Amino acid sequence: MTEALAQKAAPPPPLVALTEDEVLFCDNIRRFAEEKIRPLVREMDEKGVFERSLIDQFFQLGLMGIEIPEQYGGAGGSFFESILAVEETSRVDASAGVVVDVQNTLVANALLRWSNAEQKKKYLPRIASDTVGAYALSEAASGSDAFALQTRAELKGGDYVLNGRKLWITNGKEAGIFVLFATVDPAAGYKGITAFIVEKDFPGFSVGKKEDKLGIRASSTCELILEDCKVPKTNLLGEVGKGYKIAIETLNEGRIGIGAQMLGVARGAWEHAVKYANERKQFGKPIGEFQAIQFQIAQMATDIEAARMMVYNAARMKDTGMNFVREAAMVKLFTSQVAERVTSLCLEIFGGYGFTKDYPVEKYFRDAKIGKIYEGTSNMQLQTIAKLVMAGK
Ligand SMILES: Cc1cc2nc3c(=O)[nH]c(=O)nc-3n(C[C@H](O)[C@H](O)[C@H](O)COP(=O)(O)OP(=O)(O)OC[C@H]3O[C@@H](n4cnc5c(N)ncnc54)[C@H](O)[C@@H]3O)c2cc1C
Repeated sequence: MTEALAQKAAPPPPLVALTEDEVLFCDNIRRFAEEKIRPLVREMDEKGVFERSLIDQFFQLGLMGIEIPEQYGGAGGSFFESILAVEETSRVDASAGVVVDVQNTLVANALLRWSNAEQKKKYLPRIASDTVGAYALSEAASGSDAFALQTRAELKGGDYVLNGRKLWITNGKEAGIFVLFATVDPAAGYKGITAFIVEKDFPGFSVGKKEDKLGIRASSTCELILEDCKVPKTNLLGEVGKGYKIAIETLNEGRIGIGAQMLGVARGAWEHAVKYANERKQFGKPIGEFQAIQFQIAQMATDIEAARMMVYNAARMKDTGMNFVREAAMVKLFTSQVAERVTSLCLEIFGGYGFTKDYPVEKYFRDAKIGKIYEGTSNMQLQTIAKLVMAGK
């Protein structure tokens, strides 16, 4: 019996277990977020502008090229580490979280998987060291129905000439490189969609209106204008007509990133609420001594724990090469619900003060809302989950 037990393989670690390196990685980012991001959060939110010096520090810390191999100047880390970085930054500021998220889970991810050797040599070192990236799929008339996009790419000599407009592009103001989707043949439907690497200085490219938003206000969300924009043929990403595959597959990973952002937002708000509950006195004692408040805190902690397990599990599945499409959609759906519920309740724990800008919880509440919208709305996640689970997958 003892021998049999001794021979049994060690059970897999619990879903929330981190390696020593991952614990260190999180601690470093948490310290950085507290010391450098936290003091700027309110002003960035009010002004709707992300502090450029913070982005420079993200690069210095290696947060903008986490999975990029060291030979290209990246940190040579895992997808799981990208997820931890998004969670830890979002705990303090969801706008910081989405800067890190888009760079790693969408832009670097698309370039790592789909670019050729020359493109890797040219773009990965920039993405890892000083250039913000953006991911441009959506247009005014094509959001959920993303592949109805109308931006046109026509091959003329050695260049593709792009015409059209992109909308809602995160990091649009700061980005130097855009992974951008256009159609080479509108009649071909989704099979005409093609991905390009577009630089902000390419002739015919400009950044248009920046949105004034409810939440993640410091994160820029911009229109992109392409007027006879010349993109060298060598900047085609992947194959002609395979852009839809690039979009679908990168967004699958992106959704786990948004899950991490929502997890960080929920955690951040919850920590503020617990602290406040222990300090704020009514009826002669801290409100945290009322069982009603304790139960709310307990319920939120349970929601956050469930969200964490889903996020970490999906990220580990990705790193081990398993199929994670269903899990990623579930992560995005569930964590955005948790973030909305938790931030709303945290705001209530602060009473009237929670409704003011003197305390940080109203911002978490505003920031949580985007989780149900971008990288596929909740209805789109439900559609994916339904399709897979009803087919027995
Ligand atoms: C702050 C912000 C940042 C963003 N960043 C980026 C970015 O970096 N890059 C990028 O490409 N895009 C980005 N987006 C765009 C985002 O992905 C889209 O807004 C989103 O996919 C929804 O598209 P839509 O706004 O056109 O809404 P619509 O598609 O018009 O949806 C409106 C409503 O209809 C529902 N709906 C639509 N179709 C169906 C259906 N078949 N069944 C059931 N319900 C349906 C939706 O769930 C939603 O409730 C961003 C958006 C925002 C707000």
